[in-house]
Amino acid sequence: MKRTHHCNELRPSHIGQTVTLSGWVHSRRDLGGLIFLDIRDREGRTQTVFDPSGLAKELFDQAAALRSECVVSVTGKVRHRPAGTNNAKIPTGEIEIGVAALEVLNMAEVLPFPVDDPEAAGKVHEELRLKYRYLDLRRAEMLHHLRLRSKVATAARVFFDEQGFLEVETPTLFKSTPEGAREFLVPSRTGIGQFYALPQSPQQFKQILMVAGVEKYFQLARCYRDEDLRADRQPEFTQVDVEMSFIDREDIYALIEGLLKRVWKTALGADIPTPFPRITFEEALNRYGIDKPDTRFGMELADFTAEFKASTFKVFSGAIAAGGVVKAINAKGLAGATQGQIETMTEYAKGFGAKGLAFIKVEGGEWKSPIVKFFNDAEKQALISKLKIEEGDLILFAADQWLTACEILGKIRLYCAEVLKGQGKLVIPADRFNFLWVIEFPLLGFDREQNRWYSSHHPFTAPVTEDIPLLKTDPKKVRGQHYDIVVNGVELGGGSIRIHQPAVQKTVFEDVLQIPPDMVAARFGYLLEAFKYGAPPHGGIALGFDRLIAILCGTPSIRDVIAFPKTAKGTCLMTDSPDTVEPKQLRDLYLELKTAKIA
Ligand code: ASP
Repeated sequence: MKRTHHCNELRPSHIGQTVTLSGWVHSRRDLGGLIFLDIRDREGRTQTVFDPSGLAKELFDQAAALRSECVVSVTGKVRHRPAGTNNAKIPTGEIEIGVAALEVLNMAEVLPFPVDDPEAAGKVHEELRLKYRYLDLRRAEMLHHLRLRSKVATAARVFFDEQGFLEVETPTLFKSTPEGAREFLVPSRTGIGQFYALPQSPQQFKQILMVAGVEKYFQLARCYRDEDLRADRQPEFTQVDVEMSFIDREDIYALIEGLLKRVWKTALGADIPTPFPRITFEEALNRYGIDKPDTRFGMELADFTAEFKASTFKVFSGAIAAGGVVKAINAKGLAGATQGQIETMTEYAKGFGAKGLAFIKVEGGEWKSPIVKFFNDAEKQALISKLKIEEGDLILFAADQWLTACEILGKIRLYCAEVLKGQGKLVIPADRFNFLWVIEFPLLGFDREQNRWYSSHHPFTAPVTEDIPLLKTDPKKVRGQHYDIVVNGVELGGGSIRIHQPAVQKTVFEDVLQIPPDMVAARFGYLLEAFKYGAPPHGGIALGFDRLIAILCGTPSIRDVIAFPKTAKGTCLMTDSPDTVEPKQLRDLYLELKTAKIA
């Protein structure tokens, strides 16, 4: 019995036709001597009815033995549901199948958790869902995620094709490069003591493709990073990876705006306005305290460095004297914050090295705070006018070096929005997508512990041309041609215009990043050599595809949009990987295990 229709297809116009449906028993009800089976397939479900008066007893008994998730084919006539029994919630809710034949294709044991009830499924422990992922994926919500992911991947491919891009696959057996995160290593069987590394991104290959003359490359690329998994990271993930030749930053902005416009239209039917606003790294930190600001709400940081320079409150004036700043936010309506909430915010501040957190609660017409007694009228007036202080507000301060003060308040700003949400005050509108480009990042950051510069993005990012002479003299001042695309406070991706002159790339590796020349030659020699044979100017970007789909699906976790994700410990609970291997396999690879940890 081969299916004639899928389970979301039949309507009153099919009434009278004999059809065959195949799928899973979604639910079973025994009512008034009849058996009702809802049959589900990927597309939807249809009600089927077994009536003992018109059926062989054997067939009816077979139906009676079925339970949820058994696999069946049923054949019968499409008919109207009896008056008053239509189900308006499903598209097939006006019809049912009067069953004439049943084929049981497979039985199913009782499931470890229900897949037919979204409410119940939401309460199932995620570990159980991951162990039985094939059952989890039967749930309508998860199937929707897979479908949307597939649709977006196709839309992206069509978009890039229209724009003249070639999709090129780059190797996933690569070599180790000291480029960023820790890598997964794959021992080689043929080269004794040698290892491949799984790529963190196709960065170097895509640049080489530009040298090869491909001009416009994209790939839905699998990338690997062996990092301690922070919440919602995966050791393997997918990027929409892009590289183009003979372009500048504007071309990348326009391309990605076009792509996201197409994707939002395809996935959500939504028109997103372009071009996206742009904000510099410095302004993002000054106003939002973070380089991926959520601009759907205000609560912006205000600066009081000038006002508190000579303050009698030594925490403020002292921080300024040490080259720092004083900044504050007004968490409107949060004067009633609990002790616990203030403590959490204080912990954030301490996590950044602050000694505490100064705050003012504006309650009962009074400023309640141990520090208010230090403020003179002019200082109070400045606070009132810049922060628009009113009854019920909570003012929070950070006095520290610029970046630290910004980051403390950036974190607290987001936390306050969460607290307000908990109180039913929605400061962040949920139905909006605020895209923005963050631009003009510093090319380098300084690692105090290691006493050396590191690349803010990666070492292939080009400095702003006028700043190239500063590379050796004043690296801190060098701006990078790097950009990030941010939506609702989430970094969706980032990229840069690249260095394409071998001499500049060598300077960055050796003089700025202090990578020893022999290591540069061993790890990046082929790239520097390639650049000598006519490398066009080029640049690109990569978007986190899993993150993109999670945003479109409205789920906070990328695990929900990856068919077979790993746990936070990097394990697959369904297949039990990683796993041990046979001694022979190790011998073939010339590997020997030490069971004790090597110091
Ligand atoms: N390869 C970079 C990354 O993975 C993105 C880029 O610069 O294109 O972050």
